[in-house]
Amino acid sequence: MGHGAYGTARLHPETSPLRFNYDDNYFNHPYQGMPEDGYTAIIENILKHDRIEVRLGTSFEAVAEEFDHVFYTGPIDRYFGFRLGRLGYRTLDFERIEDEGDHQGTAVINYCDQSVPFTRISEHKHFAPWEADKFSRTVCFKEYSRLAGEQDIPYYPIRQVHEKRMLESYIELARTEKKISFLGRLGTYRYLDMDVTISEALAACDRIDQLVAAGEAIPVFFVDPT
Ligand SMILES: Cc1cc2nc3c(=O)[nH]c(=O)nc-3n(C[C@H](O)[C@H](O)[C@H](O)COP(=O)(O)OP(=O)(O)OC[C@H]3O[C@@H](n4cnc5c(N)ncnc54)[C@H](O)[C@@H]3O)c2cc1C
Repeated sequence: MGHGAYGTARLHPETSPLRFNYDDNYFNHPYQGMPEDGYTAIIENILKHDRIEVRLGTSFEAVAEEFDHVFYTGPIDRYFGFRLGRLGYRTLDFERIEDEGDHQGTAVINYCDQSVPFTRISEHKHFAPWEADKFSRTVCFKEYSRLAGEQDIPYYPIRQVHEKRMLESYIELARTEKKISFLGRLGTYRYLDMDVTISEALAACDRIDQLVAAGEAIPVFFVDPT
């Protein structure tokens, strides 16, 4: 798992994502995996809990008043109506490719040349080699990266000097709020891999249990977003 390698500024022979073979793992994390039944099964099982109610197509703003405390995982700038400006994101346009058999022989190929308009092609069947015999055809997605507009899904926080300054102002504003905690990749404006997101969520749950038991206030941030 993991896109974290994108953040590597200096290339090191053991940690850099450069590779000139068909090793089907682009990333160099010692442990990498996909849930055997996919993420959908994990989320379905979590949501089966008696005390979890799901409301789809509902903006948090419409229901926030019903709760003693809100754990907000939406964009922090949106929570404040973008009043200090919009935090910049990159987004992606996906182009679907269908093919017979095998398209590229591996899960991900990255295209780093400036002359190539897309950044990578992912071929999903290779993420689940244990299902290799099941499919005679294949589906791939080509990813075209661009600046996110107001209507786009925000994917990758830009986090350059300007955005970090704006983020600090939003953090200051957030710290004046009550009955809300900002979490996750959008709530804290950080690129997070799934493993980090899940581990932070579990750590936050443990902390909440302790604080509630001690009658103490739940913090606005569990992790410093800067
Ligand atoms: C293109 C892309 C590729 C990725 N690939 C990988 C990968 O290969 N491996 C890996 O480990 N991680 C990957 N990640 C990272 C992974 O997706 C994130 O770490 C994870 O989804 C973060 O979970 P989250 O709950 O913080 O945020 P999200 O999953 O974004 O959940 C936030 C939710 O809040 C909802 N929301 C927002 N605003 C409101 C509102 N006002 N009211 C109600 N709901 C709202 C959103 O609709 C969304 O469902 C990738 C991320 C992206 C963008």
